Formats: sequence, structure tokens, C-alpha cells
Amino acid sequence: MVALKVKRIEMGTVLDHLPPGTAPQIMRILDIDPTETTLLVAINVESSKMGRKDILKIEGKILSEEEANKVALVAPNATVNIVRDYSVAEKFQVKPPERVEGFLRCPNPNCITNDEREPVDTVFVRESREPLEYRCRYCERTVREDQIRELIRPS
Ligand SMILES: [Zn+2]
Repeated sequence: MVALKVKRIEMGTVLDHLPPGTAPQIMRILDIDPTETTLLVAINVESSKMGRKDILKIEGKILSEEEANKVALVAPNATVNIVRDYSVAEKFQVKPPERVEGFLRCPNPNCITNDEREPVDTVFVRESREPLEYRCRYCERTVREDQIRELIRPS
């Protein structure tokens, strides 16, 4: 078996233990512009913990805990490694954010956030952590964890 070796980065953020295939969505959630950022993306690689996983290395950008926590919406078990001088300076587990603004679509077609003429940015507030559930601030519709992935707006 050939082990995958991904280049080490000097400074940046490594998101590990992402469910397989979620890396592109995570780039969207974090609003990463691949034309302006150096990224190392590993999709569907072997993982002893998860079977298969994605890894995303963002070179030259340190994510704040608040930014990184948005990742928990599609990757609840993601770990974040902050790299400085080629070594891990900080490591933490993501936690689902209390508020989610902008990048999720409300599933209710009559919600004012889906108004074609005057769309309003969505705001979802966390209702419950286990199971993960959010409520639209405008129409009160709830969104469950298993719905979140399909409600992420394309960039
Ligand atoms: Zn709504």
C-alpha cells in the first residue's frame, strides 16, 4: 500500500476528519476562493478512525475558532490544526455554531429569504445540539442535521 503524503505547510489551517466528499462544500462554507488561496485537498483517503475521509489544508490562512466552527455543520467530528513554522501550534475540535448567517437556504419556499424580488439573507439559530437542529429566524422552519448538506447555497 502506498501511503499518501501531503506536503507540509509552513503556516495555515488543516481541517482533518471531514466526511468523504465534503471538502468542496467546506470550501464554500468558509468562502475560500481557490484562485486566491493555496489549497491542498485530499478527497476520500483512508482513515483509521472513519474508514474514509477528506482533508483540507489551507495555506497562509489561520482560521479563527468561530470561522472553523461553521465546518461542524457538515463535518461534526472535524479537527482543526493551526500550523505555524511547520508545526501544529493549536488543535481543537469544531463545535456547531449558535447562529448561521448567509450560506444556508431556508427550505420553506414561502420564507422571505426566498423572495425572488427582495431576498433577505438567511439567519438560523441553533435549537438543539443533539440532534443538531436550527430554526429560521424569519419563518420558524426547522432544519435538521441531515438536511443541512443539501441546503448549502452554491457560491
Ligand atoms: Zn425561513
